[in-house]
Amino acid sequence: MEQQHTSVALEETAIQELASHMRGALLRPGDAGYEQARAVYNAMINRHPALIARCGDVADVIAAVNFARDHRLTLAVRGGGHNGPGLGTCDDGLVIDLSDMKGMRVDPVARTARVEGGCTWGDMDHATHPFGLATPSGFISTTGVGGLTLGGGIGYLARAFGLTIDNLLGVDLVLADGSFVMASASEYADLFWAVRGGGGNFGVVTSFLFHLHPISTVYGGPMLWPMEQAADVMKFWRDFILNAPQEINGWFAFVTVPPAPPFPEQFHLQKMCAIVWCYTGALDQADEAFQPIRATIPPAVDFAGPIPWPVLQSLFDALYPKGLQWYWKTDFFTDLSDKAIDLHRKYGAQLPTMHSTMHLYPINGAVHRVGAGDTAFSYRDANFAEVIVGVDPDPANNERMIGWAKDYWMALHPYSAGGGYINMMMDEGADSVQAAYRDNYARLAQIKATYDPHNLFHVNQNIKPSR
Ligand SMILES: Cc1cc2nc3c(=O)[nH]c(=O)nc-3n(C[C@H](O)[C@H](O)[C@H](O)COP(=O)(O)OP(=O)(O)OC[C@H]3O[C@@H](n4cnc5c(N)ncnc54)[C@H](O)[C@@H]3O)c2cc1C
Repeated sequence: MEQQHTSVALEETAIQELASHMRGALLRPGDAGYEQARAVYNAMINRHPALIARCGDVADVIAAVNFARDHRLTLAVRGGGHNGPGLGTCDDGLVIDLSDMKGMRVDPVARTARVEGGCTWGDMDHATHPFGLATPSGFISTTGVGGLTLGGGIGYLARAFGLTIDNLLGVDLVLADGSFVMASASEYADLFWAVRGGGGNFGVVTSFLFHLHPISTVYGGPMLWPMEQAADVMKFWRDFILNAPQEINGWFAFVTVPPAPPFPEQFHLQKMCAIVWCYTGALDQADEAFQPIRATIPPAVDFAGPIPWPVLQSLFDALYPKGLQWYWKTDFFTDLSDKAIDLHRKYGAQLPTMHSTMHLYPINGAVHRVGAGDTAFSYRDANFAEVIVGVDPDPANNERMIGWAKDYWMALHPYSAGGGYINMMMDEGADSVQAAYRDNYARLAQIKATYDPHNLFHVNQNIKPSR
């Protein structure tokens, strides 16, 4: 029978019993720290869980999973809390909050890192950078390792080393029945296949084991051009990035220049287009690698240069603090026709608020070395991941920015490969989830039926257990 996910009147004795089994705190409405603990990154999301289990270790996670299942509570699992539609929290139910589980062990000889489920990418960079090592992550350091990894993980190192999941060696997982398993290519291989893109559908990942690469100081940062050059820059970027050596990554963006240093004053609050670069080849060859770019389309603002990896990773953290309103739309593209570029230019020029933006991430190079059926992440033949986000501090602007994001997405969708990236969509329903997984969906639904037949883990981009 499907888990009922109802809010039930919990008996005080049952709650006290759970609290007594936990090393971490169990927070309820009215408790000190509850309001802070329930707030997620996207301020559009305002949920009130009945219980927040601030798990301190795996035993706490097991106790909380068993409690939610036995009491038929809606169960949400929170890693970094960055998810757009707020899938790391819920109303009335129980939230397993992993944010106190920040254990990390780097093995510089084997080049691996064992990372607990509450770490952010900033935590990870902090731990690995002293060893001159890193693994592919995203483009901002405050995002959780948990959600980003389980959905795939698209970032600066994708063309060189693949998605985050392509560098995942194993996970520790608490399953719906409260059992603990270690999944890897050799043990629970079906689960390991499923968690590499299948999101939080299969259990609570208490730790991740990653392969690390020698990454320390890279050559990167943004270049900006006036909006009038947007079509030319985009066409240049498309042709360049489809054929560039894998050690060069650069994502395209429409931005409004923040009115603050280091941006030159004459560009403050102007809408511009940008490419944010990350080159991981030999530093003494970087200027040569960037020469054709600078010569063909000289940027108006050029910040690209040698930069420590953690600095590049956290470059945009201050611009996007916790507590803004966020609305997400996403698609994958195999190509970018001139007609599609015209549409991008049109909607890019209409960015509705200063924080709103459109990014196109290249996902060719090493991402294509893995087959579409080798992990749950299916879009291995796509070259670009598009994300359109309406972002602003003021909820009064939501309607306007949501309208822009939807119109922009609708205009480009006919040129897309069909589905979007689950980590960058809102709660759009079963069809969008199926479209994200294409041919992998049926296998995911079977694995879900094996390990979570009652869909206890349903607060996510949900894969329904097959019958
Ligand atoms: C500012 C910003 C920048 C971003 N940049 C990128 C980027 O560069 N590349 C990219 O790929 N994505 C990016 N994302 C999207 C990001 O990958 C998703 O928002 C992701 O869901 C965030 O993970 P989280 O752990 O922080 O979120 P949460 O809200 O905590 O969780 C998200 C989902 O993952 C599940 N989950 C999290 N941890 C676990 C766990 N340990 N075990 C089981 N389930 C778990 C949750 O249940 C939930 O369903 C960005 C998001 C934001 C807000």
